[in-house]
This record gives sequence, C-alpha cells and structure tokens, in this order.
Amino acid sequence: MRDIDLFQMALGLTPPWQVSDAQFDPNTKRLDIRIDFPRGSTFACPKCGQTGIKAYDTQEKSWRHLNFFQHEAYLTARVPRIDCNDCGTLLVNVPWARPGGGFTLLFEAMILTLAKSMPVKSIAEFVNEHDTRLWRILHHYVDEARDKADYSDIRNVGMDETSRKRGHNYVSLFVDLDTPKVLFATEGKDASTVERFKQDLADHNGNPEAIEEMCSDMSPSFISGVEKYFPNAHLTFDKFHIMKVINEAVDEVRRQEQKDRPEELFRTRYIWLKNAENLKPSQTETLDELTVKKLNLKTSRAYHIKLNFQELFKQPVEHAETYLKKWYFWATHSRLEPIKEAAYTIKRHWDGVLQWFNSGVNNGILEGINSVIQAAKARARGYRTTRNITTIIYLLAGKLNFGLPT
Ligand SMILES: [Zn+2]
Repeated sequence: MRDIDLFQMALGLTPPWQVSDAQFDPNTKRLDIRIDFPRGSTFACPKCGQTGIKAYDTQEKSWRHLNFFQHEAYLTARVPRIDCNDCGTLLVNVPWARPGGGFTLLFEAMILTLAKSMPVKSIAEFVNEHDTRLWRILHHYVDEARDKADYSDIRNVGMDETSRKRGHNYVSLFVDLDTPKVLFATEGKDASTVERFKQDLADHNGNPEAIEEMCSDMSPSFISGVEKYFPNAHLTFDKFHIMKVINEAVDEVRRQEQKDRPEELFRTRYIWLKNAENLKPSQTETLDELTVKKLNLKTSRAYHIKLNFQELFKQPVEHAETYLKKWYFWATHSRLEPIKEAAYTIKRHWDGVLQWFNSGVNNGILEGINSVIQAAKARARGYRTTRNITTIIYLLAGKLNFGLPT
C-alpha cells in the first residue's frame, strides 16, 4: 500500500477528493498532505445545493489537521470556485473543514474536547497555536449549538450568580432545573439579567408564560426581575441561601460573644455552622459541652433557633406556615439582634420561603454547576472576557449538541 493510499483511508475522503501527495519534512517536523480532484470533476453549489457544476477556477487553501504522531499535519487543496446559474461565483465546501476556517473539523473537534478538561491557554501551548484562534473555534461551535437549542419544554428555572473574579464581574446563570443544564449565562446580577433571559428563552422557542417555578436567592434584583418579566411564575427561595442567612446570623452572634467569652468560644466557628452529622467526634463533644452545660451562651441559643428553623423543611405542608410563625415569634423575641434581623428577612420573603412546600424546587443543581465553573475558572486563571467565560459555561454545562465528527 502506498503512503498516499493510507492517508486517503485515514482521512475518509469521498470522491472526487483524493490524496495526491504526502511530504514529510524531518527538519520542520511537519507533514503536508495534498488533496486534489481529477480533471473534469463536478461539485455542488454551496448555496442552493445544485450539483454537477464544473470548476471555474481554484484557490489554494491549507488547514491544520490532527498531529501525525508528534508532528504538525496540514492539508492543502485547490478549492474550486464554481459559477452557479442562480447564485453566481462561489467557493465550494470541502467535506473536511467548514468554510473560511483554517482547521479541519477533526482538529476543531479535538480542541472542543480538550477545552472541557483543560485551560484554553494550555491547549494553545500544547498544539502550538495562538489561543485567540482556539477561542474563535469554541465561540463558533457554542454559538451554533445554542442557535439550534430548543427551550420549548422548559418549566422550572433556577437562577444564581457566579463571580468572574473574586467579588466583582458577576455572571448570572439560568438553569433548567429538570434536565439539568445551563440555559443562559449573562453578565451582571441586576434585574436586567432576567429580562435578557426572557428574550433568550423566546429566541429558542421557549414560552416565558409557561415557566411555572423559579428559584433564586433573596436578592432584590432576581425578585423584581421575576415579578416584572415572569408574572406567571412562582418564586421559591433556595433553601441553601435561606440557611445561609440564618447561619450568618448565628456566626455574628458568636463573633460578638467571643469578645466577652474568648476561652469558651475559641475556635468554635465551624461547630455552629456545620450540620451536626458532619462534625468530627471531638467537635461533637465540644458542641455538647457548650450547648448542654453552658445554657447561658447566646451563641448556643442562636444555634438552637437555627436548628429549629432547619426543622421547618421537614414539616408536612399543612403545618408549615404555623410552624414558621412560631419560629418567627421565638426568633424575634430572642433578644439576639442578628437573629432578629434574620427573622425579619425571612418575614419579608415569607411567601417565597413557604413556596418550597408547593414547588419542591431548590438550586442544589446550580451549586453543582457552579463548582464545575469555579474549577474551570481556577484552571484558566481568568478568561479575560465575559464572552469567553460564558462560552466555557455553555461548553461545560449547557448539554449542547455540537454535531462534530468524533
Ligand atoms: Zn446555487
């Protein structure tokens, strides 16, 4: 078998395309495969699909292909221009690359696969290309796949924000709670993010009026955004975020009290914040000591109010509101300022706290997606632009269909 036959088979070329030459240069460590077509071959119009059109002239093009062992491989071909009766003079499509691209489809598929587990910067070094060119590949396929995505059956949506860098440059995520997958990622964390999500949903066959349940933290921007743009949807406040409010109050009580009673509360912070079943035996011992034997600790009182609040979610639906009212009375009469503040926060978000008993939704899924994204960001050490980070988010968590060769 001649080497060009081998390359012909490996590339899976279909007529009229065939490998006409293969040159390996040991000095540049580069393999060049030339692809050609026999004289008199005919081609299809790339616009209308009309077949049987002969080449009018050709333009030489090259594409980076998958490495041949450790050597960079390139395909080169004379790409015909045809003169279509209806569409005019056009360059034909080649089966191994998309129009205008400098890479073969297989090379692009490899970049997409690597980008799921490697920083783009590292891939760029690995394949010896500038990362800007690789980002262009990722943007293209993610945009194309998102254009085709269908959101007509979306009913339950979770919202959360993730920071691009610590503390600023927020990206808001909208997630299908049923699949689960990221539907939409957009810069910012104000109510306009909800408006943009509504538009994006409609752009993908989704019906904003068909959205039944939405879930978020208690941030005013999400609340006002849902009221304005999804008036039919019920809003449930995410359990994890509600507990965070209560936990922060407990922590604040501990912080204040520790000034007066440093010996007893030294290094107890996590004992009060973690769930009891996740404590180490030594921590459980300390907790028992502090809660049973030192009943006069404010922190211990705050802790019991938190435990009592957690029990809310175990109540049967018909008792839930009565239970929450009792808790609210207790918390507001606790003489613990941070706990009272937390209780007022719960009061202001009353319906959305109780809505969980009807909807059963929470953003646990989003926490999982968020951790995937945080890990990706850590690997990438900054994606430079919001466009880049949203592209990676869709790539990792969008469950998109890229339609590339595998
Ligand atoms: Zn045509």
